[in-house]
Amino acid sequence: MPELRKDPVIGRWVIIATERAKRPDQFLSKATEGPPEKACPFCEGNEAQTPTEIYSIRPSFTPPNKPGWELRVVPSHAPFLRIEGDLERQGRGLFDVMNGIGAHEIIIETNKHIDNMADLSEEQTSKVFTCYIDRIRDLERDMRFKYALVFKNQGWTAGGGRIKHSRSQLIATPVNPKRVKEELVGARLYYNYHERCVFCDVIKHELEIKERLILDIDGFIAIAPYAARFPFEVWILPKKHSCDFTSLEPGMRIDLARIMKKVLMKLKKGLNDPPYNYVIHTAPFRREKVGYWKSVDYDYHWHIEIIPRLTRVAGFEWGTGFYICPLPPEDAAGFLREVSEATA
Ligand SMILES: [Zn+2]
Ligand SMILES: [Zn+2]
Ligand SMILES: [Zn+2]
Repeated sequence: MPELRKDPVIGRWVIIATERAKRPDQFLSKATEGPPEKACPFCEGNEAQTPTEIYSIRPSFTPPNKPGWELRVVPSHAPFLRIEGDLERQGRGLFDVMNGIGAHEIIIETNKHIDNMADLSEEQTSKVFTCYIDRIRDLERDMRFKYALVFKNQGWTAGGGRIKHSRSQLIATPVNPKRVKEELVGARLYYNYHERCVFCDVIKHELEIKERLILDIDGFIAIAPYAARFPFEVWILPKKHSCDFTSLEPGMRIDLARIMKKVLMKLKKGLNDPPYNYVIHTAPFRREKVGYWKSVDYDYHWHIEIIPRLTRVAGFEWGTGFYICPLPPEDAAGFLREVSEATA
């Protein structure tokens, strides 16, 4: 019998296909499709091929936009939103409209031509997290923005484009994204009723039953979520309650890098280097405004969602908002636990 499972945070239902379920090893990624690779503007020495850098980690004796850096952030050359101008929010009949204001930045995670974040060192991945934190904090000072979303498109079918150089993106928006708002509202409802954080409750439960637990190290856990939408969907959460990713202390960033690298390496080795996306879900910018996400410190809990792109979303998902997951998360977790994360 297939199971309908409800996500405890946002109340989204998913169908976990147990009868027609495939074995975990039937999801291995096919050889990467996509057009041939393009010349790389992100390698050290090609700084002139990118827009002027916004941020970098480099020794102080090296000038900006020149070699010598370890990590760089540049504006997107094809931004979804523009940084200049005012919002000018207005009504157009019953429709809302505002100018497409926002920030769209590319985080070049390494000066070397490395395709997958799984292959960066823990130290380098930890610098990537520090960079995310510094950039989010900087953008928070801009009162036009309400949220900053960090995400990654890895591989052609995940939107990674034709350049195989590990990078992530940050988009600051003048409105809160709907997906994040659903989580914030769901988490607040749960907190109002139980006086506990729903994510903390999930962590406690998953540590007890262990069947969806993939890793439990250094203050973080990686789990296959109970109501997974996709095969091998993985969430990483800090075990200690915190709503704000940017409050992660420097000492914890290396621990996060360690579990992140292990998870990405398990996906890479276990599933044949699949394309994937990840997002960091953290609290929105908290501003001095009455009633504005006042309880978020208590009821929300930041996390990273990682989704390998092994199946396609089709008409039913699109039309209903239901997802059909062809692999029970318990099987995904069992499979990933077995894959060695040791670097080959
Ligand atoms: Zn490169
Ligand atoms: Zn919590
Ligand atoms: Zn989330």
